[in-house]
Amino acid sequence: MESKQCAGCGKSFHPRPQRPDQRFCPQPACQRARKRQWQQQRRQRDPDYRENEARGGRLWRQCHPDYWRAYRQAHPDYQERNRAQQSERDLRRATRLLTNGDVSVRDPLVPSGTYVLSPVVPGNLANGDVWTVEIRVVSME
Ligand SMILES: [Zn+2]
Repeated sequence: MESKQCAGCGKSFHPRPQRPDQRFCPQPACQRARKRQWQQQRRQRDPDYRENEARGGRLWRQCHPDYWRAYRQAHPDYQERNRAQQSERDLRRATRLLTNGDVSVRDPLVPSGTYVLSPVVPGNLANGDVWTVEIRVVSME
């Protein structure tokens, strides 16, 4: 049997005769990488699988409400890295929204301008105390 290069570690290995298309060597780390890759592809292609996994995750979190809080407290570097990755994802998403042609940037719900603010009291819409306020749109998000 000819040897192949592992898609995980890059070392050469001999595929099992039953699986000539084997791409990962039998090392545990490479088998985990193979499984991760398979799950990622499955998640991308199969909405049922994705929903099922999400449901499983929700259930697990309900049964273990303190797990991640405790984990974050014990691993501050994890929390830091997570935050950095999340803001990177947020930035990518915002950029995508701005550059994507079929998503138009909405007008602000309330345009900038001068407004009259008066309290609403049941049975008596304006009770005399009226404020003049200026509303300025600071951010669209
Ligand atoms: Zn390997």
